[in-house]
Amino acid sequence: MTTGHHQETDTTLIASMERGGVRPELQQEILRLAKFHTYPAPGILIGAFMVDYALELLGAKNTEKLYGVCETPKCVPDALQTMAYITTGNNRLKIIPIGKFAITVNRASEDATTDAIRVYLDLGKLKKYTTIDAWYAHSPAYDKKTMTALLQDEIFSAGRKILSYEKVQIKVTPKKKWKSVTCPRCGETVPDYMIEGDHCGACGSMMYYERIS
Ligand SMILES: [Zn+2]
Repeated sequence: MTTGHHQETDTTLIASMERGGVRPELQQEILRLAKFHTYPAPGILIGAFMVDYALELLGAKNTEKLYGVCETPKCVPDALQTMAYITTGNNRLKIIPIGKFAITVNRASEDATTDAIRVYLDLGKLKKYTTIDAWYAHSPAYDKKTMTALLQDEIFSAGRKILSYEKVQIKVTPKKKWKSVTCPRCGETVPDYMIEGDHCGACGSMMYYERIS
């Protein structure tokens, strides 16, 4: 384990968070998140403020059973996973790859729909934060080699000031009843609702490997 490297990253990150006035508990969460993600990518730092804000607006603690949707597969899902324990593995995180820095968070519900909070990166509010704006737009004005520290400082001083939220209603996905079926092509089993016609996904549209022997 590269402890030295982590310590150096932590020290730099903590100094930047201190300059931005990030509160101590959130600093700890961000350090944990950065470790999980393997480095303090700008996207997870913004994601941390998104999740923190969403939980506060929902009046929820991360010890509750919560559900989330993330509108990008990049960075932000890790903030939901480490800070709110909304994970792909516990099936409470849905990633819909729309390509926006936005999340919704809601509580468990027996109803067909439920109230949720959607927190999103507000492009209008970004105008005052030129480095974040350039980075998010993937503009050549952002130079990763020289501007990473500046970007980090800007993210921490902005905090949730670059975010907006709205109350929304989302559909609750009912638990699926299923049975196991055997794919006639590969002989392996899958849940019946995942069969594509007469074969499994790996023998069809989700084929991603070829057998070597
Ligand atoms: Zn198959």
